[in-house]
Amino acid sequence: MKFAKNVELIASPTKSGCVDVLVPRCLIGNGQDVLGAPIDKEGLSSVQVEWRDGTIRSIKCSEETSNIPTEILLPRFVEPHAHLDKAFSWSRSPNLKGSYQEALAANLNEYQFRSKDEFLFSVEKSLNLALVNGIGAIRSHIDSFGKTAMRDWDLLEIVRTKWREKIFLQFVALVPLDFWQTYEGELLAQKVALNGDLLGGVIAYPFNKKKMFKSLLNLVQLANRLKCDIDLHIDESQSSPAAGLKLLLQVLDRVKNEISITCSHLSSMGLLREKAISNLAKEMAKNKLKVVALPLTNSWLLGRKDRTNLIKRPLAPIFQLQKAGIVVSVGGDNVNDAWFPLSNFDPINLMAFSMPIAHLSPWDRLGLSPFTTSAAHILNLQWDGLIQKGTPADFILLDSNSWVNALSEKPKRKVVVKGEFLNELPNDKNSIFSKFES
Ligand SMILES: [Zn+2]
Repeated sequence: MKFAKNVELIASPTKSGCVDVLVPRCLIGNGQDVLGAPIDKEGLSSVQVEWRDGTIRSIKCSEETSNIPTEILLPRFVEPHAHLDKAFSWSRSPNLKGSYQEALAANLNEYQFRSKDEFLFSVEKSLNLALVNGIGAIRSHIDSFGKTAMRDWDLLEIVRTKWREKIFLQFVALVPLDFWQTYEGELLAQKVALNGDLLGGVIAYPFNKKKMFKSLLNLVQLANRLKCDIDLHIDESQSSPAAGLKLLLQVLDRVKNEISITCSHLSSMGLLREKAISNLAKEMAKNKLKVVALPLTNSWLLGRKDRTNLIKRPLAPIFQLQKAGIVVSVGGDNVNDAWFPLSNFDPINLMAFSMPIAHLSPWDRLGLSPFTTSAAHILNLQWDGLIQKGTPADFILLDSNSWVNALSEKPKRKVVVKGEFLNELPNDKNSIFSKFES
């Protein structure tokens, strides 16, 4: 198999550089290094960052304190929840009504006929965009319950190897939960565990409580036996708030769990009363559950009611979860498919659109962490994204001197991967993304 040519890194033998930049103070790992560096009202600190051989060698107060830097430096972003396998499938599988049920039906139909070329087109186009937009790691759920599941997972291994130097990839096998109790499920789980990937599934109301409990129990036991983490689409709904989460907590009461479990969506939990949210959050913290909130798809798909706009919308209660000590990150979820027609693997866009929905402000530490350090924790990455001496020179430079401008004006950006500046955006996207050969 031959893959299309991709964005190249500029060859630089030293992989070195030095920039005077604005860095969010809460992303600077060691405060001692920048004592006395000025911090503006948006929490941006003027510092000088120097790197060599792909590693940051020093971070210190800018030499020319009179000149405010004109670029913001951020670590390369981590996308904690994507669907690379169906991105950009909108044209062959649209969902014009925008509801969850219609998205599901369109997805199932599209998956049935998804060819190898279509699968690779989605994955490669997504990765190319993610790279130039400044994403350095992605966890992607992969539809894995059809006759092409094994083929797709073999292809993903090739893709992962090919992209290893540019983007860290982690995959989650997305299946109906009871699939894990079948012989095929066991085979797939072994393959997934061997690759260091994750088991997934969907728990969305309405469901049969007894049957779902059994499926969940089996999944948690299977994952512990294979030492494989879990990431669930859970409570992506607008009724029976947190019904899936309550069931999961009951299961965790019954078994000894030593693997990490991520709850993606958890949207209906936000509809509960404050006391109930707080009690559940405490239970979640005790079980070390992690959360990925997905404001864009939740806002688009959920809370619809014919030609009536509802004011109350399901969304994970991010602040209350953070308060309970739970790691919460924000993901982009679907891109240009039946679940969500818009978006383009741009983390700056994701931040800009999430701000009004989730009230996450980039100048607050807990407003920025869901897009940076918490996302890195969810993927269990070696580097948490804090900028300090000894960490990778993996960052983006935004041509802007304030958060408000950066999130409003689509500023130019430069991406640095392991100390090297990435080339310009490919001029002809179509030629890059359309040349797959089997
Ligand atoms: Zn999803």
